[in-house]
Amino acid sequence: MRVFSLESVIDEFEELTKDAGQQQRETLRKILEQNGEAEYLQKLGLGGRTDPESFKACVPLVTHSDLDPFIQRIANGDTSPILTGKPIRSISLSSGTTQGKPKLLPFTDELVQSTMQIYRTSFAFRNREYPIGNGKALQFIYSSKQVQTKGGLIATTATTNVYRTEQFKCTMKDIQSQCCSPDEVIFGSDFQQSLYCHLLCGLIYSDEVQFVFSTFAHSIVHAFRKFEDVWEELCEDIRTGVLSSRITVPSMRAAVSKLLRPSPDLADSIYNKCTRLSNWYGVIQELWPNAKYVYGIMTGSMEPYLNKLRHYAGSLPLMSADYGSSEGWIGANVNPSLPPESVTFAVLPNIGYFEFIPLEKPVGQETEISKATIHYIEGEPVGLTEVEVGKEYEIAFTNFAGLYRYRLGDVLRVAGFHNSTPELQFICRRSLVLSINIDKNTEKDLQLAVEEAAKLLAVEKLEVVDFTSHVDTSMEPGHYVIFWELSSDAATEEVLHSCCNCLDMSFVDAGYVSSRKVGAIGPLELCIVRKGTFHKIMDHYLDLGGAMSQFKTPRFVGQSNIKVLQILNRNVTECYFSTAYGI
Ligand code: AMP
Repeated sequence: MRVFSLESVIDEFEELTKDAGQQQRETLRKILEQNGEAEYLQKLGLGGRTDPESFKACVPLVTHSDLDPFIQRIANGDTSPILTGKPIRSISLSSGTTQGKPKLLPFTDELVQSTMQIYRTSFAFRNREYPIGNGKALQFIYSSKQVQTKGGLIATTATTNVYRTEQFKCTMKDIQSQCCSPDEVIFGSDFQQSLYCHLLCGLIYSDEVQFVFSTFAHSIVHAFRKFEDVWEELCEDIRTGVLSSRITVPSMRAAVSKLLRPSPDLADSIYNKCTRLSNWYGVIQELWPNAKYVYGIMTGSMEPYLNKLRHYAGSLPLMSADYGSSEGWIGANVNPSLPPESVTFAVLPNIGYFEFIPLEKPVGQETEISKATIHYIEGEPVGLTEVEVGKEYEIAFTNFAGLYRYRLGDVLRVAGFHNSTPELQFICRRSLVLSINIDKNTEKDLQLAVEEAAKLLAVEKLEVVDFTSHVDTSMEPGHYVIFWELSSDAATEEVLHSCCNCLDMSFVDAGYVSSRKVGAIGPLELCIVRKGTFHKIMDHYLDLGGAMSQFKTPRFVGQSNIKVLQILNRNVTECYFSTAYGI
């Protein structure tokens, strides 16, 4: 029995968003009262004032590097009120894949509460349109390693910090259906073994599964690529009731073995379904016939996996999940029937105090989303209810966990309003990935260039499995290097050369085009890497303590990221140089 009604969650959300401006003032007051003793705030001379005007006048906008020295002191065991009134007892590590290395961030009970509020809210809206019964969920979720900081605090990824709590377990029972896999799989010490067991447990409960989930869509695509390799072994385990010898972690082995019984009929049915599928199209729908949808974050850096995810899902709806970060949550998807490409996030006005830095493109620059570039002029920050529909902003927020006017580095567009709270569309990370001189290209620009060039491969029924980029300045002039892993090595030289030219032509920012024309940037290089290379890169990040649940392929590899560059360079099988500009 559910402990809360979905109607009451929707009512609560409607109430909260009716006067979002008032909620914001109230939330800021609570944050500043609760954390008024913190050294950080004391030094800024707020003197107990909690109104937005005084707050903005006294407290500067900051980035993570400004707060890092304070967070390091907390991690080193200083329990004085540094960023918050109450001492911080846990640290979150960001995935590290957007910035190159994990950031340390404060983690508090309030973040657990806001996570649950976001999950509950989007679930209530989702369930109104796609009701699910009391079944199970095939969830590809993984905890990451937990380490102790110098000061003895537990440091792990934000998702793991959340999974560890009782509140998560209770809320999940209410809203997400029970995970098919036991805790020993989620908290297993070997990601590959956990993945195999998630698939196996999902198959054991195939009739009960109501939906398929992972935090980021990449994990679902990754899981089904693995399924293509191991499906016969999974069938064998189900047929005999004996778990594959590949599962060696004792606790995981014991927990999953308990669920396994010899089930030759189920094994036959899975086997027959798999052999009937054409190139694995619709495998999720076929094997989990009662699943209603596939759920996970599908926006931003997950967009490149959408085609493959659609392929595996067949006609099951794809529903994109909420928007947040290790720093804190921001908005919930309350329009679940929108396709992932146009999904929006309604900001919850009571979980933080939000500000938006207007980003204007100078006259003459492209303004379409498809030509997203970074030449922005920044305006004065505005409040949550002052944003304008159609405009782009960088978000900055203040929350209960000790972050004040913190710039997250994401660019968002206001798509509309739900009552008086904005619905945001994720555009891209603000940081540049590719830049040599006056050229400026973001992750989004790279993604669009890859999408354009990959169309040439589609004719040959080939796909880009994953991609990243690098700037090679070892020789004058510097040039862009794009690494592609392909679904097969059947691509002809001719096609790959056209792809390389197409990539070069698809970076349309004026700085790049003019530099290419005069030879200030050299011909773009397309490097094809062996199958499995991006898997090795992921393993490398997991070894560093990252979590599969938060993994995002880094779309740019800098010169200092020696290990990842080595993995890429050692696996290059062929290279092409663009002849598009004739220079
Ligand atoms: P991390 O804290 O390492 O998990 O990464 C947080 C970042 O992931 C955010 O700042 C966004 O750039 C990205 N992100 C999180 N949620 C979404 C979403 N729903 N859509 C697009 N990007 C997202």
